[in-house]
This record gives sequence, structure tokens and C-alpha cells, in this order.
Amino acid sequence: MAFVPNLEREIGLAAVAEDHRVGGSTPRFYIETYGCQMNFNDSEIIAAILTKHGYHPTEDFHLADLILLNTCSIRENAEQRVRARLGEFHAIKRRRPGLLIGVLGCMAERLKSKLLEEEHIVDLVIGPDAYRSLPALIAQAESGQKAINVLLSREETYADISPVRLASNGVNAFISIMRGCNNMCSFCVVPFTRGRERSRPPASILREARELFDLGYREVTLLGQNVDSYRWEDPATHTVVTFAQLLAQVAAISPKLRIRFSTSHPKDITDDVLFTMADHPNICRYIHLPVQSGSSAVLQRMFRNYDAEWYRRKVDRIREVLPDCALSTDIIVGFCGETEDDHQKTLEMMDYVRYHQAFMFRYSERPGTYAARHFADDVPDDVKARRLQEVIQLQNQHQLQRNREQIGKIHEVLVEGPSRRSANQLAGRNSQNQMIVFDAGQARKGEYVFVQVTGCTSATLLGTLSPTSTPSTN
Ligand code: SF4
Repeated sequence: MAFVPNLEREIGLAAVAEDHRVGGSTPRFYIETYGCQMNFNDSEIIAAILTKHGYHPTEDFHLADLILLNTCSIRENAEQRVRARLGEFHAIKRRRPGLLIGVLGCMAERLKSKLLEEEHIVDLVIGPDAYRSLPALIAQAESGQKAINVLLSREETYADISPVRLASNGVNAFISIMRGCNNMCSFCVVPFTRGRERSRPPASILREARELFDLGYREVTLLGQNVDSYRWEDPATHTVVTFAQLLAQVAAISPKLRIRFSTSHPKDITDDVLFTMADHPNICRYIHLPVQSGSSAVLQRMFRNYDAEWYRRKVDRIREVLPDCALSTDIIVGFCGETEDDHQKTLEMMDYVRYHQAFMFRYSERPGTYAARHFADDVPDDVKARRLQEVIQLQNQHQLQRNREQIGKIHEVLVEGPSRRSANQLAGRNSQNQMIVFDAGQARKGEYVFVQVTGCTSATLLGTLSPTSTPSTN
């Protein structure tokens, strides 16, 4: 079902469909996002494209003329959740045949037209590089034809589009600085669903960061599958901007603008980045450094291009240059061929690093990946479950230890809003990305305050506003 944009045809079709709309003349869209921060930022780019095309967002899908699911494909259960959700929309679609339902993102890219064959309720299937074609695809679907565009691009970065911040707290926001990934980790579906790496022009990133700062945002997170390989070459002058240089440029916008970034790759993070962080107090002392496994044998089969010893040395180097830097990670248990000894090596790596935070998963075979084609998914489910439990338990212990080490210390906290615990309390994070909850006092959202830590759980620090304005060194 090749897609061919045709402007005249699009405008004509839009006029015909108007009378079917719940929102009368102003069509409304509802978007639900699954998966990673990149996907959340993509939903904000999609919202910008749709609002520019006369659509208004709604948070209630019953009021929507267009329901969009922006999906994740990283593990099988992520896709199962989307299929279950589509099932829930059958009833409303029967009642309102003019309602359009679209599946976007990585699952759309992975399954392509197969999704239209398998899920008859779906009208639109759009991959991560094709969101600009949304208005024309909607016109096609409104004319009763299924619409699909899953072309991947080597250029597309949506650099000229200012995302519409969805469900934002007005304090922190995501900025995508690059798209795609050139690493081909054997277990990972991302290179197939998001394509090759391309970096966004620095000027457009700086423009977006300044706009956010002027709007009152006080923290931006620079996003990429592998931010360390950000590299922009000016087509005219061939001058190159590296990730370290981009970080310094964004940090120079204002000392009151905090900078975070995610995700780093252990083989690519450089001393330049570490020294740039050391030179700029507003670049947060937090690095997300996925290890995936503590066993060099498993890392080799994962095509991670580093071994356990390399990773340890990288952690040592980070702590040498940035002694107060917090580390978080991703861990996969039960990868093809993982032995009990390999698993023990992962637990030893966790003991060595004592991560501040970790995202831990059991291996989920993804169709089309090298691992799926060449390795047997041979670790039994109950063994995967037991190993995952052990990793989670150890991580909770480390997190509780790390948090207990903060008791008595004073942190500079950026207030993000009311705490979920109580209306009299506020919540925010320190530079190390640890969440701190404290009695509100005179503090306000978007402000930097100093909080003395008085207690903790494994997930949260508890504290009181501190009269002094000098943070303790960690
Ligand atoms: S670095 Fe590896 S795990 Fe991360 S997105 Fe790229 S291929 Fe996937």
C-alpha cells in the first residue's frame, strides 16, 4: 500500500470528513505513548505537526476524532500491551466508524503493513521518521483507505519543529539531539525501527533550549540512543561539533539551566565529555551508562564492543574526573547462553559500581535481530525470573545504601512540583537525579532550593528545607 502524498486530494478529503467529527469543526487527537523518553519527545513532535494542521489535543479518547498509539518494540510484552489496548478500542470504533486509529513508532516500523492485516481496527501505520506525512495520511484514511508510511530516513531529525509539551510540569523537558543508532547490539531492535544515526544541527538544539529557558523551564535532557556519538558536520564549512562541544554550548545558555543527557554508550563516552561536565556545574552529575551484563563472554555475544574490565575502567575514570557523579544502568538477565557464572559476574559488577539506579529486564527475543537469527533463547523462563529477582534485590540494597549515605547532607534541589505523598510537600531532584521530598514551606515549583536530607527509602530521599545555601559535597 504505497503512500503518495497529494495535496489537492488531501484538502478535498478533509472537507468531506468534517461532519463526522465529535469535536465539530475542530478535530481532536488523543495520543498515548509507550516506551522510552525518545518516544515521549516524538509524541510532542507529533502534537506539534497535528496542532499546526488544525487538530487540538484531548486527554480523553472518548472525545477524540483521532486516536494515536506511539509504540515501543523493545520487548515482546511492550507490543502485547499495545495489542490489548487496541482491543479496548473496538467498542468505541463500532459506535463511531469515522474515528481514526493510528499505530506509530517502533512497533509500526517493525511490523509495517502486517499490522494492518493483523489489527483491522487500525487505519494508520506510521514509522518514527514519517511523522511529517501525518496530515496527508489522515486525509487518505478519512477517505476510507488504510494509510501507511514506514520509510526510514538518513536525514530526518525534525529539527525545525518545536515540540508541543504534553502533560508537562513546566520545569523539565526533553530535547532530541539525534535519531537512530549505528551500533548493532545483537539483542536490540532499535537499529531496525529507528534507522541509522543522524545528528541534529546544533543551532536548532540551542534555539529549542533557549525557548524552553525563556518559558521558565529550568532543566533539559538531551536525548539520543547513543548521545556520545553525536557529531554534526556543517555541510558548508565542514566544521564539526562533537557531543562535548554541544554540551558546553547548551550549558552556556544560563547557569540556571540544568542539563542532563541520555543514553551514553560505555565504548563512546570520552574524557572530553567528562571534563566538559567538570567545567560546568549546571551539567548534572549523573550518567546513564548501560552495562547490560557483567560477563565479558555475554557482552561479546551481545556485540557491545567492550568487556567487563573496560567497563570497570570507564567507571573508575568517571569517578576520577567527577567524584560526585551518580551512575545508572540497564541490565538484561537471561541472555542466550548465560550461565550461572555469567550471572554471578553481573551481580559482582553491580557490587563494584553500586548503581544509584538501574533498569532491569529479562531477555526478550526480538524478531529480526542477530541474536534471534543465530542464538538459541535457551535460558528457561523460571531461571530468567529468579536471576531478575536477584538483580532487583541487590539493586534495592545498593540504592538504600546510597540513599542512607546522603542523610545529614544538603543538596541543591530543582523543585518539580507537589509530591505524590502529601499536598504539603514538594518533590524535586538533586544533580545526581535522586528524588527528594520535603515540606514545602515557601518553596515554589521551578525554584532551586537547598534541602537537608533527614531520611530515605530505597527510592526517595526525605528532607527539610535548609537555611544554608551551600550544598554538602557528596
Ligand atoms: S546502543 Fe545497542 S542497545 Fe542501545 S539502541 Fe543502539 S543497538 Fe540498541
